[in-house]
Amino acid sequence: MASGTQGQRNCVGCGRAIAFDANVCPYCGHDYRVQMAPAQYQPQISEGMKIVFYILSFLIPLIGIIIGVIYYTKPDAESKNVGKMCIILALLAIVIGAVCWAAVWSTAWWAL
Ligand SMILES: [Zn+2]
Repeated sequence: MASGTQGQRNCVGCGRAIAFDANVCPYCGHDYRVQMAPAQYQPQISEGMKIVFYILSFLIPLIGIIIGVIYYTKPDAESKNVGKMCIILALLAIVIGAVCWAAVWSTAWWAL
C-alpha cells in the first residue's frame, strides 16, 4: 500500500493525495460522507440463478466449467460454493456422458 504523507490518503476516485479527514475530494468531488466504510462485497446469487447455473453445467459442461471458474475465483464463500458445484456437475456430466457414449458405441460395435 502506497503510504503518503501522514494525515493524507489517496482518493479512491482520482488517486490523488487528499486530507485524511476530507469529506469531499477537492480534485474529483468524490463524496466520502456517503460511503465512509468500504462497501461490503456481497454479490447475492439468487436461488433461481443457482439452479439455472447447475442445470446449465450439467447440460453443457463447457459452460459449467466456465461459470464454475468465474465464480470460484470470487472472494465470497457463497460464490465459491456455487462455482465448485458447477465444476463438479460439469465433470459429472462429462463422466456420465463418456460412459453413455462408451456404452452406446460398444453396443453398436457388437451389433455390427
Ligand atoms: Zn478524488
